[in-house]
Amino acid sequence: MKYSKQRDVILNTVLSSYNHPTAEEIYEIVRKEIPNISLGTVYRNLNKLAEAGIIKKIQMSNGNFRFDRQEDTYNHFYCKQCDQIHDIPSSNFKDINTIIKDKIGYEIDIFDTMFVGICKNCQNK
Ligand SMILES: [Zn+2]
Repeated sequence: MKYSKQRDVILNTVLSSYNHPTAEEIYEIVRKEIPNISLGTVYRNLNKLAEAGIIKKIQMSNGNFRFDRQEDTYNHFYCKQCDQIHDIPSSNFKDINTIIKDKIGYEIDIFDTMFVGICKNCQNK
C-alpha cells in the first residue's frame, strides 16, 4: 500500500481508539488534523486498511460498521441497550477449542465472535 498522510492519520486514530468507533466518529477526529478531508475519503481508507488486514471492520446487526485495532485475542459483546461494543478476551473461551474439537472435530486457531445482549451496566439500571 502506497503511503498517504491521510491514511496514516486515519490509521493512527483507529489504533488509539478503544471504543470501536464508527466511520463518522473517526471522521470527526481526523477532521481536527486534516480539516478539508471528506467522509467519503475516510470511508475509502478505512475499507482499504480493513481489506489489507491492518485494522478490523466489525459488522453490526443493523448493517452499520465499526472499526477496531486488529487483535485476535478479543471477541466482542454488543449491548442492545446502550449501543456499545465491549471486548471479551479470548482467554475466557479457551475451553471452546476443546469442546469443538471433541464434539465436531474441527481445530480452531482464531475466533472472531459477536455476542449480543445486555451489558452489566445496563442490567443494573
Ligand atoms: Zn449496556
